[in-house]
Amino acid sequence: MRCFMEAIDEAIGRIKDSQSVAVITGAGISQESGVPTFRGEEGLWKTYRAEDLANPAAFQRDPQLVWGWYNWRRGIVAEARPNPAHLGLVEMEENLDSFMIATQNVDGLHRLAGSKEVHEIHGNIWKARCTACETVFDDREVYEDGQMPHCPKCGALARPHILWFGETYDQELLSGVMGFLARSRTVLVIGTSGMVYMPVHLAEYAKSRGATIIDINPEDSAVTDVATISIRKKAGEAVSMIVKGLYH
Ligand code: NAD
Ligand code: ZN
Repeated sequence: MRCFMEAIDEAIGRIKDSQSVAVITGAGISQESGVPTFRGEEGLWKTYRAEDLANPAAFQRDPQLVWGWYNWRRGIVAEARPNPAHLGLVEMEENLDSFMIATQNVDGLHRLAGSKEVHEIHGNIWKARCTACETVFDDREVYEDGQMPHCPKCGALARPHILWFGETYDQELLSGVMGFLARSRTVLVIGTSGMVYMPVHLAEYAKSRGATIIDINPEDSAVTDVATISIRKKAGEAVSMIVKGLYH
């Protein structure tokens, strides 16, 4: 295996040669901000796994339980601050002609850090959506147990504005992201396992259109097979080193 510094230097070289860079991020980029990924031990809530709660059937069966879990997560995200990986991507955006982040994360930390071109393909934890008329609205409450938000227009129960397991992606949003990926020379994939397959699919698509894929993750993942360059480090350290090499 090539050494880590070689991979960092190669990544810096590729980004220098690219006018257009895209970044795909998953839960791993927010791990150093204290937001648990679903897979680790700390990702469990009571005895439930995320897959058992983040799905439409669970919400129909017991909306209070599902909102209870989201309130627990809202409490964690409210305390979280962007880490050096989020901040490094802001600097990259400021220095490139063309830049985009497509994130699976719902925590809003990319925008809080200052990134502008952010596509939240799985929604946002601070938004809710009416189960009757589908109005989407900002909702920054962390509710007490048993309380749930209702639609400001029609009064019906609202659900988290998040893409759940078994639901389909917003096609317009996704085709915008794919259009950008097709024009990108370099794509960074940061902190995603590929267990939710979309990031791997997006990386494969970009690669088929000629992009170099750079995988940043302390562990091997489904992204590794697609990657041209793999950086086996935490996101904070790896992105900081890349940005330092590029701009400092
Ligand atoms: P995931 O499938 O994206 O896996 C997390 C990956 O991050 C793993 O491969 C792990 O090795 C890697 N990782 C852990 N620490 C890292 C670090 N410091 N730097 C870089 N990589 C690191 O995430 P998941 O938790 O299995 O979640 C599946 C779905 O739920 C995704 O849509 C995910 O984004 C979403 N989710 C979002 C948040 C959030 O908004 N912060 C949190 C949990 C889950
Ligand atoms: Zn409504």
